[in-house]
Amino acid sequence: MKTNVLLPTKENIQQAGEALRNGELVGVPTETVYGLAANALDPAAVKNIFRAKGRPGDNPLIVHISDIAQIEEFELVSEIPEKAKMLMQAYWPGPLTIIMKKGSVPDEVTAGLDTVAVRFPSHPVTQRIITAAQRPLAAPSANTSGKPSPTSAMHVLHDMDGKIPYIIDGGSCEVGVESTVITVAGETPVLLRPGGITHEQLEAVIGHVDISDAVIHKLKDGETAASPGMKYKHYAPCARIILIKSDDNGYINYVNAHSADSTAALCYDEDAEKLNVKTYCFGAKFDFDAQANRIFDVLRKIDEDGVENVYGRCPDTTGKALAVYNRLIRAAGFEVISLA
Ligand code: AMP
Ligand code: MG
Repeated sequence: MKTNVLLPTKENIQQAGEALRNGELVGVPTETVYGLAANALDPAAVKNIFRAKGRPGDNPLIVHISDIAQIEEFELVSEIPEKAKMLMQAYWPGPLTIIMKKGSVPDEVTAGLDTVAVRFPSHPVTQRIITAAQRPLAAPSANTSGKPSPTSAMHVLHDMDGKIPYIIDGGSCEVGVESTVITVAGETPVLLRPGGITHEQLEAVIGHVDISDAVIHKLKDGETAASPGMKYKHYAPCARIILIKSDDNGYINYVNAHSADSTAALCYDEDAEKLNVKTYCFGAKFDFDAQANRIFDVLRKIDEDGVENVYGRCPDTTGKALAVYNRLIRAAGFEVISLA
């Protein structure tokens, strides 16, 4: 199959909508990362998402809508809890996925769970594609399962070339990491995946929100994740990444003392001039927005360059940096050296 990368013109968006209605897959830009979309109400189309990504069947998909009224129109959930309404009011459209008790959504989308994840993206092109498809779209990130998520149409082409008919090129993604995932299906709301909307922002609207253990810690053997996507290794380049938990000088001294030909540093912008290995900067130390925006692109560049070993800075865990930390610690397979 030839994969066509198309600009988001009116005609091309109509064509993408038609392809989606016909059960085909389309790579779509969103404000978080690029998605691999299919008609969420078509089980056969949804199965093709899992096939194209090599995604384990037990990892459910997020259903994307372009209007809050579509939740009722397509009976996506059995009820909308009050806290979900408050979050929708505050942060939709935007990088927030809300998990609620499921309505009549195919089991292929929810991996057999009794809940469903719903998001209303803010990217105008995503909204236009959903509207053109006239259906909610199931869309995970458009990467090969386990690899860094795509934040440009070229990243999607790299992973999906020959597997899908269309990619709509909406430029590079503004947020750069996947949506925040919160469940309001139980008694207490739980943050399952940190993203563009921070834990602090969630609590400002609905009060206390637990943070799932799997956000920060490695799951113990046999332990299951509340969000199946939060498993041990994910978002990972081929290179081995080791995170160094340390202050600025400790990090710089450690990397310089352990430099070799195929070793590189995944560091803050400020570190680069003090390091004597190849550097991959993912933003200034306190610019968490930039770090989120750049992290996946930088992880992909590390693979393009054939780097073998990477010493990475261990990101902060406050605000939006928690999302960067959560992705990097998985890219590193939880290999961390603490110097403090
Ligand atoms: P991705 O589409 O690649 O961004 O992955 C979607 C994320 O949402 C994964 O971490 C899933 O495990 C999670 N997710 C989707 N639906 C549910 C659900 N019903 N319950 C818990 N987690 C979910
Ligand atoms: Mg993903």
